[in-house]
Formats: sequence, structure tokens, C-alpha cells
Amino acid sequence: MTQPPNPQPVQPLLGAGDVRRLAADLDLRPTKTLGQNFVIDGNTIRRIVAAAHLDPSETVLEVGPGLGSLTLGLLDAAARVVAVEIDPILAGRLPETVAKWRPKTAANLDVVLADAMRVTELPHPPTALVANLPYNVAVPVVLNLLENFPSLRHGLVMVQDEVADRMAAGPGSKTYGVPSVKAAWYATMRKSGVIGMNVFWPAPKIASGLVGFVRHEPPATSASRREVFAVIDAAFAQRRKTLRAALAGWAGSPALAGEALAAAGVDPSLRGEMLDIAAFARIAEAKPAQSTTP
Ligand code: SAM
Repeated sequence: MTQPPNPQPVQPLLGAGDVRRLAADLDLRPTKTLGQNFVIDGNTIRRIVAAAHLDPSETVLEVGPGLGSLTLGLLDAAARVVAVEIDPILAGRLPETVAKWRPKTAANLDVVLADAMRVTELPHPPTALVANLPYNVAVPVVLNLLENFPSLRHGLVMVQDEVADRMAAGPGSKTYGVPSVKAAWYATMRKSGVIGMNVFWPAPKIASGLVGFVRHEPPATSASRREVFAVIDAAFAQRRKTLRAALAGWAGSPALAGEALAAAGVDPSLRGEMLDIAAFARIAEAKPAQSTTP
């Protein structure tokens, strides 16, 4: 059998035994509240890293490095990894694990003890987000990071499979909702695979999905992001209602909602699930001025 000309040395990744040993050493009891399901399978890590399409010059933001399974894979593929972890025990142990498993690239890692839903500053501007996200906060984490770190050009996240479908859904599909439209403000999202439950410890009860994204310009509009997001929230708060009815509170009355929709060129009898982000931006722009008289 012929060998490829310059085979890349295969670097070791954490397996099930390593994860359990590390957890036992830390006396760690993984919590559901923090979505602590650790990857115990090197092939899954390689798959995630390959699907992230990283350039070797990139700075990767990893949210929730946990015991370091994905961090090791990312250090092999990128110039820097900035890892944001909320659990002080895990954040405290990570540098030691990386020094042991990747002595040559350990200096390329920064560990930040913080909540990724609130973090606004990092030691290096990240160009890519790659993470096995804590499932209960996956969407707010992604939206917060895209908002606060404009240097993020692309990314690949692992989330609950159902959430992956929602994030990547387009108008008119059953799964299209607030996460899909808000994510579309920032980026083009694409589902890029499903991951089974047995590659984690502890194993979750549901499958996971991979979502890749590439940032794009938000729609051209004079409305602010907050104003556009307020229309999205109002439209989906009552998703079975027509837009004219669902946006009555937001506009001041059903008639005013009808006027704003007409000005935005949107059929008032539609439901929010039929509109793309550009249409929501046009509606926000057409919001009638609130009357000050009682
Ligand atoms: N990356 C590791 C892996 O793949 O094995 C662990 C992934 S685990 C699904 C999620 C990780 O996110 C845990 O380490 C958890 O402590 C951390 N975490 C949970 N909520 C967080 C938050 N709001 N900000 C930062 N990290 C968080």
C-alpha cells in the first residue's frame, strides 16, 4: 500500500478512560444545569474539527471546553484557542491537561473563566467559534457571541439535534422560529450532521446536531437590531395568529399593525413563520410613531 507523501502525525485525543480518570481525579459529578456531557470519542472530535474548516492561522473561541476533549483537537488545527468555561473546577484544570497532552502548543491556549452568555471581552479577537455547547443555553450563547465579537467570521457548533434544525431552518418550515430568524440576522446557518448519544459521558437522552455558519452583513435597514428583534419576538409570541393580530400590541392596535405591514409590503394575513429576516427588518422600519395623546 502506498503512503501519502507527508502524512500528518496523528495526535492523541481523550478517550473514554481518560475522561473518566480526569473526572474521578476532580471528583466531578457532571451537572445537567451546565449541560455537562463530555465527548469520549476521538473520531467525533476529528469530525467536528474537520467540519469547522479552520485555517491554521485562526483564533478559535471554544465555549465550554470541559475536560478538554475538543480543545486538544482545536489546538492541532488553529493558531490559538480561547476557551470560555463557567465551571471554575474545569477551567482550573484545563491548562494542566493541555500541558500534558499538547506540550508543544499549550502556550496557544487562553482559558477564560466566564459565562459565555455574558462575556464581552476576550484576550484575543476570535475568528471562529467551535464548540460543543451546553444545550440549555446554546441559542443565547451563539447570538451573544455573534453580537459581541464581530471578528467571528464563521463557526461550527454542536447542539441538540432539534435545536440544530431550528437554527438552520428557513421560512415556511415547521421548525422555523425565533432562533432561525435571529441567527439569520448575523449569519447563514447550515446543518452539517447528526451525532449519536454514545460518544458522550454521561450519554444524553437525545441526539446532537452540527450547525455550521458563515457571517454575512445584516439586512440593510434604518431600524436597529433591537427594533428588528422586538418585531420577531412579537410575531412568534403568538405564532398561530396572523401578523396583523400578533403585531397589534407592538404597533399599538391591529389597524396600526396593518398599516405598518402594508408599508413594509407584507401581507397582513400571513404568519411570522413565512417571513425572512429582511421582511422583519422592513416591518421594524415601518413601525408607526406611538401616539402620545391618551
Ligand atoms: N467541550 C467539552 C466536550 O466536548 O467534551 C464539554 C462540552 S459540555 C456539552 C458543555 C460545557 O460548557 C461544560 O464544560 C460546562 O461546564 C460549560 N458551560 C455550561 N454553561 C456555560 C456558560 N454559560 N458559559 C461557559 N461555559 C458553560
